[in-house]
Amino acid sequence: SHDVTIVGAGLAGCEAAFQLAERGHHVRLLEMKPARRTPAQTSDFFAELVCSNSLRGAALANAVGLLKEELRRVGSLLMRVADRTSVPAGGALAVDRERFGAEMTATMREHPRITVETGEVTEIPRDERPVILATGPLTADALASSIAEAVGTKHLAYYDAIAPILSADSINWSKVWKQSRWGKGTAERAQEPGRKMMAEDAEESGDEAYVNCPFDEETYRAFVAALVAAEKVAPREFEDVRYFEGCLPCEVMAERGERTLAYGPMKPVGLVDPRTGRRPHAVIQLRAEDVAATAYNMVGFQTRMKYPEQLRVFRMVPGLEEAEFLRFGSVHRNTFVDAPRVLGPGMEMLRMPGVFLAGQVAGVEGYVESAAAGFVCAVLLAQRLAGKPLAPPPKTTALGGIVTHLGREQPSYQPSNITWAHLPPLEGTKSRLTKRARYEAMAERALADLDPWKNSAL
Ligand code: FAD
Repeated sequence: SHDVTIVGAGLAGCEAAFQLAERGHHVRLLEMKPARRTPAQTSDFFAELVCSNSLRGAALANAVGLLKEELRRVGSLLMRVADRTSVPAGGALAVDRERFGAEMTATMREHPRITVETGEVTEIPRDERPVILATGPLTADALASSIAEAVGTKHLAYYDAIAPILSADSINWSKVWKQSRWGKGTAERAQEPGRKMMAEDAEESGDEAYVNCPFDEETYRAFVAALVAAEKVAPREFEDVRYFEGCLPCEVMAERGERTLAYGPMKPVGLVDPRTGRRPHAVIQLRAEDVAATAYNMVGFQTRMKYPEQLRVFRMVPGLEEAEFLRFGSVHRNTFVDAPRVLGPGMEMLRMPGVFLAGQVAGVEGYVESAAAGFVCAVLLAQRLAGKPLAPPPKTTALGGIVTHLGREQPSYQPSNITWAHLPPLEGTKSRLTKRARYEAMAERALADLDPWKNSAL
């Protein structure tokens, strides 16, 4: 007999199983390996690191560095095994993949309160409560459909669509200008009958968060035609490609009609080219990726075009003739829920009491973040099983930041690595420190707040 069922022995599932078992609960852990593997897996170890063997930056001035230190202090299995199997990697924590996998697997198989069973789970188990689903970004199809049915298809993404990022110094700045589409107040004014958007209106908004690349009609038509004709990466195993609304690949929009992009991400509304004093026929907007604005994201231009085609077609954009791409766009399998709308406190599915989600399928991104989400899910469930009120990690900690991100509504929810933006900013004079000093102060605050939570809630 067992107290909790966990599906998926990945980063999140192993961490959750360990935490519950260490708290005296009997765990049944269901994993499809070795009977079946996901397209990304190449070994039969649990908690397989499918790509890089790095758990990223170690320094506390790095949000994922803080997250790792917190996990270490609260007794996470991931950190225990990672520290024991680490290999030299400069400022990062990297592990010996084989030894890491072997040790994680052995911990699961040998723990007296964990029972491992092999087999693919094809639907959310009916009679097992509580159950934690930790089946990851490549959750096998049948179970993914079952989750979609439970949460509503529009709240489960199967694919992630990523827009390209280019370097700021490769933009031809003489052809583009900075202006946000709508400043506060400008939108209302523009909706007044007969009101035209004038340059002064736009300037009043005072917001220069976006860089605009203007198209005249002819350039726009040629660009749309090129998007439609360009070679795309074949959708391979996935014919039934479903995207979150608002996250369609640009070529899919282009295929729907010549004007679709002009009414979508390329709409020129609220923008005035300062060199002509007029609204352009269409625009592509770029948004800074970092505070120093060294890199820009092409807003709304997620794409399945092959990389050389992206280079060719996106260099047709006025101002981007010599653009250098730091990351190309892509569309890949990534199963995750719209966490803020699907999960309640304790990472429990609002529509299915007793069913919990952990790891990437819950809406986080990354190895460490997935394990952290498994940790938080397990300790909150343990609190509940012990009849205690839920005590989530403090918001000022990186563990709390994971919970904050899962609760932050977005027009189109995106899983995210942990960043400082998930923690509340510093107050008072400390908010004026340099960036690095600010991050270090946030890390210090987090570790100070972690202790009392650890002592009272864990
Ligand atoms: P996983 O670690 O994937 O674990 C899920 C487990 O559930 C697997 O063992 C799987 O076999 C099992 N499973 C799935 N469906 C079923 C089912 N129906 N029944 C039974 N078992 C099932 N993050 C990084 O930080 N660095 C990287 O380099 C990196 N590279 C990535 C590369 C790829 C191709 C992908 C897809 C993701 C990558 N990620 C990376 C992101 C992600 O954080 C990791 O995939 C991470 O392993 C997710 O942890 P998880 O516990 O949520 O899921």
